[in-house]
Amino acid sequence: MRTSFDLIIRNARDAEGALISVGIRDGIIATIEKTIEGSGSEYDARGQTLGPGLHDHHCHLLGTAARMESVDLTDCRTKDDAIAKLRACTDSSAPDKWVRAFGYDERVAGLPDRELLDKWLPEQPLRIQDRTGAYWFLNSAAIARLGTEPLPPCVERDANKRPTGRIWRGDTWLRERIGGSPPALASLGQQLARWGVTGVTDASASNGNVEAKLLSGSIPQRLIIMGTEDLREGDSYTLGPVKLLLDENDLPPIDLIMERITTARELNRNVAAHCATLGELLFYLEALRLSGGARPGDRIEHGSVIPESLIGDICSMGLMVVTQPNFIHDRGDRYRSQIDEFELDDLYRLGSLLRGGVKVLGGSDAPYGDTNPWVALRAALDRRTRNGAVIGMNEAIDRNTALTLYQNPQLTLGAHADIILYHWPEDIGALGNVGLTIIGGEIIWQA
Ligand SMILES: [Zn+2]
Repeated sequence: MRTSFDLIIRNARDAEGALISVGIRDGIIATIEKTIEGSGSEYDARGQTLGPGLHDHHCHLLGTAARMESVDLTDCRTKDDAIAKLRACTDSSAPDKWVRAFGYDERVAGLPDRELLDKWLPEQPLRIQDRTGAYWFLNSAAIARLGTEPLPPCVERDANKRPTGRIWRGDTWLRERIGGSPPALASLGQQLARWGVTGVTDASASNGNVEAKLLSGSIPQRLIIMGTEDLREGDSYTLGPVKLLLDENDLPPIDLIMERITTARELNRNVAAHCATLGELLFYLEALRLSGGARPGDRIEHGSVIPESLIGDICSMGLMVVTQPNFIHDRGDRYRSQIDEFELDDLYRLGSLLRGGVKVLGGSDAPYGDTNPWVALRAALDRRTRNGAVIGMNEAIDRNTALTLYQNPQLTLGAHADIILYHWPEDIGALGNVGLTIIGGEIIWQA
């Protein structure tokens, strides 16, 4: 008797190039063979590589979706460039409509205040996010829509207690105040599927139950949500670690972080801390030590600067590092101009962490990093900046190792059928290297 399947994928290759076929039933990988005897609808892979779907282990979905409807200032080098882009988006028929921009580089005109932005865009409410995501800059029309006092401390004030237009780390409060429709998550989910992404971890520190509700069921990908201690379990996502947002310029009392680690333990949750500088990393390691040590599954987010001398400690504590090789590509040229040569080797380590026994995963940090995981995969191999310079050549890893940052190590019988067919892209920027994306046995993307 021939076994029946919902879908059989034939004529694929595994990562080593061997012939492989997969049978899917009830959303589960029911068989993996060289060739399959069975009936069901068939998909001819025509020699594409078959592997587990990619998981973006660190991204910010709401921010990324919002950007799809925003003005991109990333490439603006002068004030006039920025003004031109912003004014191109004004809409005289809708003077109340917000203009939202991102990617502002403070080299353009410092940290703008309301007076300056009123000159750039006087009529419509304007909010501009700086390239690091820490600041929002608002014009007067925007400030007028923030409502009445009391305003929280994230709203910067001048000597006369008047808001300057700068808001620092105020995302959650701003979102609540401004309201508005949820951003285009469905089209983001579709875009991710075209790149072969079948799962994402939302790493936003501010995620609570409001954000979880917005995210639930909004994208076809499997979803893990990190966030606050208040965030509860939900049917359509897995509860991730408690996210600790550390800022070297404004570190909280260590007792406060220890308390949050203790609470996470009581909730049976892991912790993950934003460690973009050495100071933030040392602070986190110390807080963990004082709280009885790390637990399996605790994470260092970014690990942007890790001196070699700390690799052994990170390994022995059992911490994993969730890194962004794409920042070497996206921001590498800036790092080279701003950071001492001897410190460049400590940036976004990869190979040395793996050789040192540290578990490493990859994430885009979208919208601050490129959402396309293949940009990061290529940078993991060649460590090249946009201009082609190399940073930390000893950190380069091979193709299959790079894939393990985003993929489960292998297809597993009985696991969810989250599968992609792809070829390694020659031109990363172009779409089209992923031929098929399946999540839970459902075809989500087909070239
Ligand atoms: Zn992040």
